Amino acid sequence: MGALDEGHFHAVLANGVKLECPLQPQGIEGQPETLAIEDAVKVLLQGLGEDINREGIKKTPFRVAKALREGTKGYKQKVKDIVEGALFPEAGLDAAVGHAGGVGGLVVVRDLDLFSYCESCLLPFQFKCHVGYIPSGQRVVGLSKLSRVADVFAKRLQDPQRLANEVCSALHHWIKPAGVAVVLQCRHICFPSLESFLVDSNRQGWSKVLVRSGSGVFEDDRGDHWGDFFSLLKFRGINTDNLQTEDSIASWCPSQSCSSLELSSKNGQLNSGMVTAVDSIIRSLGEDPLREELVGTPIRFVKWLMNFHNTSLEMKLNGFVYGRGVDSLKANGELVVNHMPERLQTEVNLSFWSQCEHHLLPFYGVVHIGYFGFNPIPKSLLQSIVHFYGFKLQVQERLTRQIAETVSSLVGGDVIIVIEAGHTCMISRGIEKFGSSTATIAVLGRFSADPDARAKFLQSLPNSSTAFAAS
Ligand SMILES: [Zn+2]
Ligand SMILES: [Zn+2]
Repeated sequence: MGALDEGHFHAVLANGVKLECPLQPQGIEGQPETLAIEDAVKVLLQGLGEDINREGIKKTPFRVAKALREGTKGYKQKVKDIVEGALFPEAGLDAAVGHAGGVGGLVVVRDLDLFSYCESCLLPFQFKCHVGYIPSGQRVVGLSKLSRVADVFAKRLQDPQRLANEVCSALHHWIKPAGVAVVLQCRHICFPSLESFLVDSNRQGWSKVLVRSGSGVFEDDRGDHWGDFFSLLKFRGINTDNLQTEDSIASWCPSQSCSSLELSSKNGQLNSGMVTAVDSIIRSLGEDPLREELVGTPIRFVKWLMNFHNTSLEMKLNGFVYGRGVDSLKANGELVVNHMPERLQTEVNLSFWSQCEHHLLPFYGVVHIGYFGFNPIPKSLLQSIVHFYGFKLQVQERLTRQIAETVSSLVGGDVIIVIEAGHTCMISRGIEKFGSSTATIAVLGRFSADPDARAKFLQSLPNSSTAFAAS
């Protein structure tokens, strides 16, 4: 991460005087709202059993505050400022048939990649936005403004349907067209609790909804105009047949299905200081924590976070002895000397969840393990090791190394680990495209010296891991 990203960029003049870089996003650092969020994040970190002065997380409160404030800057933006001055008379565009409403027909901007924050759990979610409008009164709007207006409402705590409605009515109000149509394809990571994850570790994936909102001639859900609009979207391979009903939207955030977030007995009582801290974060973002949809959010958020409590999982290695299996006794007492060479053993696609300690957002994916040995280590034991190091504040590089070292201590040295992960924090920093992932590798013993051993393992990996496949 560059210095600019940290918000601490300085220019040093020849005489040694430091200047604030003019490129620095002005203002956020040191503002009362930012400081309040930083204090609240410190409470959350301490509630997780962390030392807030530990090197890796010292700057986490500021990073979280900065990401949240930038991710909700829409509260301070006005649609008027964006649209005013970008309305153009239609006359003069008549020759450009089919372009920017030149003949008064439907104008569509498709596939805008944006993100927002889920008001139910405070995690970022991604969406593709498709906007259409039918110009009227000789007014067309600069096309880039449609995306910017959508982003004003995305950069708030949202749910998909309200987001679509707000974008639609704002565009209608300021452009005054014959009608506006908005379709959003949203996806939210589908997270499990620690308990449900241990029962079914393959519970990774996406919760998806497709919502729409229409004004003017688009108010009629079944009208011809929607038909035209959907035809243009389908043209790009978008399936609009299964538009969501209100009910399925209500449960789109996994935190809404309470059973997946029941407090475990291990975690005991909910830490009320942490709940108050999340309440204060919501207030600092410019929201009202008493708004109906936000009332349960602090408790939901803390329950989710407590999955990553520093001491929430027993290490299950105690007592396990890896059978090197060189010699063995037959039932009749005869000693059998085993001449089989050590083989490359692999266990691929072990699922994990973890929490990025830099941004306090989840990352998740699969772990692939290779080692030399006579016998395979039980898959359940390897999965326990992955869970143990996964369910805490982490960085992917350290997670990879810790799993490698632990497996190495079992098998005596020759270990290779590959982790493929999707990072939620990349969504909220606007750098993740749908389906991108990060891979890390750790090699110990023979694997560090022998490229052939590495190649043999890497070639055995599955082509695509399903956890964060696109679409
Ligand atoms: Zn959510
Ligand atoms: Zn991160």
